Amino acid sequence: MPELPEVETTRRSILPFFIGRKIASITPLRQDIWASPLRPASAPLIGGPILRQGKTLILSFLPAFSEGPDRSCHQEPAFLLLSRFGMSGRWDRRPYHSPRPPHTHLEILLPEEEMVLAWSDPRRFGRLEISRSRQQSHLLSGTGPDALTLDGPAIQEIFDSLATPLRKALTDPFLLSGIGNIYMAEILFDAGLSPFRPAGSLSSGEARRLSRSLHEILEAAISVGGSTIHSYRQEDGSPGGYQRFHAVYGREGQPCLRCGLPIQRVTVEARSLYFCRFCQPPSPPIT
Ligand SMILES: [Zn+2]
Repeated sequence: MPELPEVETTRRSILPFFIGRKIASITPLRQDIWASPLRPASAPLIGGPILRQGKTLILSFLPAFSEGPDRSCHQEPAFLLLSRFGMSGRWDRRPYHSPRPPHTHLEILLPEEEMVLAWSDPRRFGRLEISRSRQQSHLLSGTGPDALTLDGPAIQEIFDSLATPLRKALTDPFLLSGIGNIYMAEILFDAGLSPFRPAGSLSSGEARRLSRSLHEILEAAISVGGSTIHSYRQEDGSPGGYQRFHAVYGREGQPCLRCGLPIQRVTVEARSLYFCRFCQPPSPPIT
């Protein structure tokens, strides 16, 4: 399942082909993937900034008031198109007249690029939504701030007095958004924190360490195009590269990169949790 680095990789790769370009049409090909009733798009439009909150990618569409190089991207969007990737959702580019791949659910025609930007999702756990603003979006309703906007004190404030274990708090989109099972395991290992610790038990020093690890791991993953575990591919079809750097995820029984003891895998709530018992002690060491 794509997490923040994979969605950010998609954002960066489609942005140059979208922003400031004419939109000839937006064609939905099925209705049951929309989070709210679909309203017809008003033309003419041009592509605006592409934003991201957590794992949700947000394409903005601007009214095309002006032609030529002066197309301003600072005007209010006509609407936003939000996409939540679910298990297998993805944005792809393909040439204008090439055949439509199976499981394509939405097509955006970009005539100047002679290109189609298409949303596909074989398993259909992903969701799309047209919204006037982020505030009015159903997909973003109640979700916490993007993980990359948080420093140590902000994390400590969000986790304040929570008895929820760290593994769960970090992946709860209503607390903070963008982190799933893979990066949760990598971040907690990097920070030397047990996934079973109550989130509210972090000292300010531990919360700063967690924030530092969160930024380092997510940014390193973005720099190599995210992680490819099952189906995720970058927008150009190539796999991400961060799975090569996983310290714990998928490494059950292999030696810990820090202490050499075998990495543990336990199943919690039907999900695999990877960690090192020695480097991530269940309670802070007594000093
Ligand atoms: Zn270890």
